[in-house]
Amino acid sequence: MGRRIGVRDPRTGRQDHTLTCADPAEVGSAAVRSRAAQPGWLALGVPGRAAALRALRDALAGRADAMDAALVRDTGRLPVSRLEVDSVLASLDRWCDRAPDLLAEPGTVPTSMPGIGLRQSPLPYPVTGVISPWNFPLLLAMIDAVPALLAGSAVLLKPSEITPRFAAVLRDCVAAVPELHDVLTVVDGDGETGAAVVQAVDLVCFTGSVRTGRAVGAAAAARFIPAFLELGGKDPAIVCADADLDRAAQAILYGGTVNTGHSCMSIERVYVAEPVFDAFVGSLVGRARTIGLAYPEVTDGELGPVISAAQVEIIRDQLADAVARGAAVRCGGEIRVLGGGAYLEPTVLTGVDHTMKVMREETFGPVLPVMPFTDTDEAVALANDSEFGLSAAVFAATTEAALAVGERLEAGGISINDASLTGFVQDGEKNAFKSSGLGGSRMGAASIRRFLRQRSFLIRSPEDKAPWWFA
Ligand code: NAD
Repeated sequence: MGRRIGVRDPRTGRQDHTLTCADPAEVGSAAVRSRAAQPGWLALGVPGRAAALRALRDALAGRADAMDAALVRDTGRLPVSRLEVDSVLASLDRWCDRAPDLLAEPGTVPTSMPGIGLRQSPLPYPVTGVISPWNFPLLLAMIDAVPALLAGSAVLLKPSEITPRFAAVLRDCVAAVPELHDVLTVVDGDGETGAAVVQAVDLVCFTGSVRTGRAVGAAAAARFIPAFLELGGKDPAIVCADADLDRAAQAILYGGTVNTGHSCMSIERVYVAEPVFDAFVGSLVGRARTIGLAYPEVTDGELGPVISAAQVEIIRDQLADAVARGAAVRCGGEIRVLGGGAYLEPTVLTGVDHTMKVMREETFGPVLPVMPFTDTDEAVALANDSEFGLSAAVFAATTEAALAVGERLEAGGISINDASLTGFVQDGEKNAFKSSGLGGSRMGAASIRRFLRQRSFLIRSPEDKAPWWFA
């Protein structure tokens, strides 16, 4: 019997669920089963694999209410749970539609060497490990699993121990699709189970904190397996003097507080041109005050509880540090324990600077510190003064003016005159800069190729009568 750990309900604070963590031997057995089943999965071809994943889509659509309910228990929030289910359904459709073209093999083509043909025929990594965090439990479990499966890899998925209840519904969906039984395996557990997954697979996709990402990257390097690391962020937004301030305030409020700020591409720092600073802050605070808490009913208000108990303490510490160093709380600012859950209204801080934790460390809560800048060079320098480089946002009067600022930012996904668009539009390839991650883009069509090992067959034509051997 594996270790058993209690799981907290974020709305009540009570541990009302028990998770049995798979030990390394169980993870190893699951990997052996996956590895044995993978050649049959690969042999189905892209059409067969797409058909199985469409069946998974239908199974999930048929259990959408059960999945919503499990996600609500995991996370304490309702509309974002529905959004997760809908976006996973849409992504299954999108990948299944596109996979035949993306994975088509061109056949034998001539090379630069007369008489030699080239056939490129990639081979998937047999078993992909997916290790996911708690902020979007279903979405981030499936974001890499779906393209990995279509590419022909089997998947061992280890969800976060903080939000594990949705896994039972996902297992029911997999059970409804016989082709997936041994190639999409969910293993329950915590960090120890995750570490065992890294030891058992051939490639790992990890989404989580920089700290754990470093450990996963080091373990993968020791085994010489590829690691795709999608880590934390401290995304800046820059508001130029000529920007539409009300639009910018509304977009930044959404980008900084949706899902209670539990989003890697959440806006966590706002830099505003000095002449419009007061007007922008006024607009932001006015709008922030209209956003309510999803309490006492989950159907109330917009912001659910802080999901992770550890995150409550991080947010509390950052707010206390900022206030102690002279920051002014313009709205929100107080973590309220309601019915056992910890809630924070959208919080706007001014009087902030880069000595404060709230400007340097990931907050992962609905907190928007706003700081003035005098010219574009200063705004760019402040935005780039971070160990993170995930995404960013720029607001200006014209697209060209905003792009000119965006070009100077050290980040992989930059929203122009909007915020956090990379969460909704996944067409573009982007890399995480600096400590925000490592490895090829998880977005854009080419991301499916991460799961393939390239192979070249170099083919001497039988008609070629003049090989060079010892010529
Ligand atoms: P975390 O690093 O604590 O945990 C993530 C996962 O890693 C969990 O499943 C955990 O059980 C597992 N884990 C822990 N120790 C491990 C080990 N030694 N080896 C293998 N696995 C291990 O992160 P979290 O608190 O669950 O998630 C929040 C973080 O995720 C934030 O920093 C956020 O920015 C980041 N995130 C990044 C993206 C992105 O796309 N860049 C998306 C969402 C979240």
